Amino acid sequence: MKQVDLKRFVFSQNSLNTFRICPKKFRYKYIDRIGWEKDDKEYYDSMEMGRDFHLICERYFRNIPIGNLDFDKSGKFSKWIERIKNIVSIEDEKKYLPEYGVFINIEGVRINAKYDLVVIYTEDGKECIDIWDWKTENRKITYKDASMRMQTTVYMYMAYEAVTQIHGIDKNNVRIRMMYYQPDYSDQPVRIEYTDEKISEDRKRIYGIIENIETSDFIPINKNGCKWCEFSRICDECGVEDLDFDYYQEDGE
Ligand code: SF4
Repeated sequence: MKQVDLKRFVFSQNSLNTFRICPKKFRYKYIDRIGWEKDDKEYYDSMEMGRDFHLICERYFRNIPIGNLDFDKSGKFSKWIERIKNIVSIEDEKKYLPEYGVFINIEGVRINAKYDLVVIYTEDGKECIDIWDWKTENRKITYKDASMRMQTTVYMYMAYEAVTQIHGIDKNNVRIRMMYYQPDYSDQPVRIEYTDEKISEDRKRIYGIIENIETSDFIPINKNGCKWCEFSRICDECGVEDLDFDYYQEDGE
């Protein structure tokens, strides 16, 4: 079985969140690199829809034609992209970075983040970094939910550490915000403002989890999530019985 060297591992919000949910799940997914059969059609249809919509948004913010939306029989994508155009207007003096990936390596700890959209501009003497994330899921996101997400922690921290560095932005004069926008709802986005206190909390949270991963024996902490875990049918510590599943090993990067 091909395994991953944790010393060279590139952490992400997904991998950190997986470890937080269940260390054993992290082991299956990122160390043993075990995949599973795509048997949940509804789940994969919704993933595909999300990917298609993100591609349309990327084209819009790269200022290239978004392409023919004839496949969009329900008119959903057309409605969604119009809402996004209204909520994030394109202005000449701002820099728009769709599907933007950043990476840091601080003293051998590697972390990456991939944003749906980053907008960089100056306002009232402040250098501003706005992070946008499009959510096509049905469940409505609340401020409380968004502010506690690992995605928010990693994305905002990486904006502070990496985006400032790459774009020559003074960390002492930056305003960082993250907006989750669900185009299925006409409401305003859920907006989270970054503070000095939060930067320090996030740094501790991220590096604390990485330290735990590096010293972990990958024993499950609790089994509350077993019912929804994709590894439940192969896991010898699964808290759910009577499951029947085929699986395979996936080699890759
Ligand atoms: S089935 Fe339960 S214990 Fe096993 S990896 Fe999944 S969440 Fe962890």
